[in-house]
Amino acid sequence: MRKVRVALWGFGAMGQGIARTLHNRQGVEVVGLCDSRPDYQGRSLHELLGLPQGQAVRVQVSPRIEEALKDTPIDCCVIATDSYVQEVFPKVEAVVTRGINALTIAEEMSFPAAQHPQLAERMDQLARKHGVSILGTGINPGLMMDLLAVCLSGAMTEVTHVRCERVNSLSPFGATVMREQGIGITPEQFEAGVREGSLAGHVGFAESAAMIAHALGLPYDQFSQRMEPIITQVDRKSPHGFAASGQVAGVRMTASAVREGEERISLIHPQQIEPQLAGVDTGDYISLTGTPPVHMAVKPEVDGGLGTIAMACNLLPFLVAARPGLLTMLDLPVPRCVMGDYRQIAFGEAYNG
Ligand code: NAD
Repeated sequence: MRKVRVALWGFGAMGQGIARTLHNRQGVEVVGLCDSRPDYQGRSLHELLGLPQGQAVRVQVSPRIEEALKDTPIDCCVIATDSYVQEVFPKVEAVVTRGINALTIAEEMSFPAAQHPQLAERMDQLARKHGVSILGTGINPGLMMDLLAVCLSGAMTEVTHVRCERVNSLSPFGATVMREQGIGITPEQFEAGVREGSLAGHVGFAESAAMIAHALGLPYDQFSQRMEPIITQVDRKSPHGFAASGQVAGVRMTASAVREGEERISLIHPQQIEPQLAGVDTGDYISLTGTPPVHMAVKPEVDGGLGTIAMACNLLPFLVAARPGLLTMLDLPVPRCVMGDYRQIAFGEAYNG
């Protein structure tokens, strides 16, 4: 039986990691590659990843998605280009209308109904019409500050408050994330960026809060978030970013979801490049107030770069097998590291080895 066939749209830090991980997995292959970077054009997957030349040497980067999706059949296209529903929607549409499942790590796609209910409805209709499924996943949103809290709540008889804190390093992420966080800009530029709305900080709080509220039946009527710069006292250099002393090395984001004046969900997320240079220990913490109270601490943090790459690769075969429609992490099986053959999950009982 043929392998699960995957196209990648976006070959940056995450897209390359996803390609490398899939290369080492069983029963799956990358058959199409789209990225707009001029210096990648016409170059092969193997050359760009520094892998030994193999059969997949024929897979070359193209700036045109039609080219990357032409070697049919394709079971899933992984979109790793954007953060926002509005930007990724046309890409999802282009994939889905070709009858291909779409998996994206765009943060807002983890729960698109949170801020874009109409586009979410449209994507759901498109997916059903073409008999495919759409999923937004990643480390955060996607697991550490939402799905994990939801899972832990399964051991409780009542939840009155959810608190998720993620103290993490931005170092593994690519140019897009560096730009969105304002890495390397001055405090004045940061203030101006927040005023003008050109700095995103962490994208996904609205989606994480909505996912938790939806899953637990813990609605809120007010949602607010704040962002403050983390100014470094020492020069910090990461693979894709640089902040000199006195410049922005990260962002501290907080969010609060409140019902009738009472806080129900609190999200706290200081993230920066090279946190160890400022003596900051990373970690993930969840505190669920209720019966019984549940507290979780993971130290150091789950690696954000590898974590996102893993989430995309691990959910991929389940998405291929999933029912048609716009899905969220609440709809798919519990995430797990897929060490076996992708075909067994993606093609189910039809696979006979
Ligand atoms: P990156 O900047 O390293 O890579 C993005 C790549 O997409 C670049 O190579 C760029 O040339 C390409 N690209 C952009 N628009 C394109 C288009 N229209 N056509 C073809 N190629 C295009 O970024 P990254 O670190 O790989 O992250 C990718 C996205 O995933 C970002 O928006 C990031 O915020 C998001 N992300 C989400 C999570 C999560 O937990 N959900 C985690 C990490 C990254």
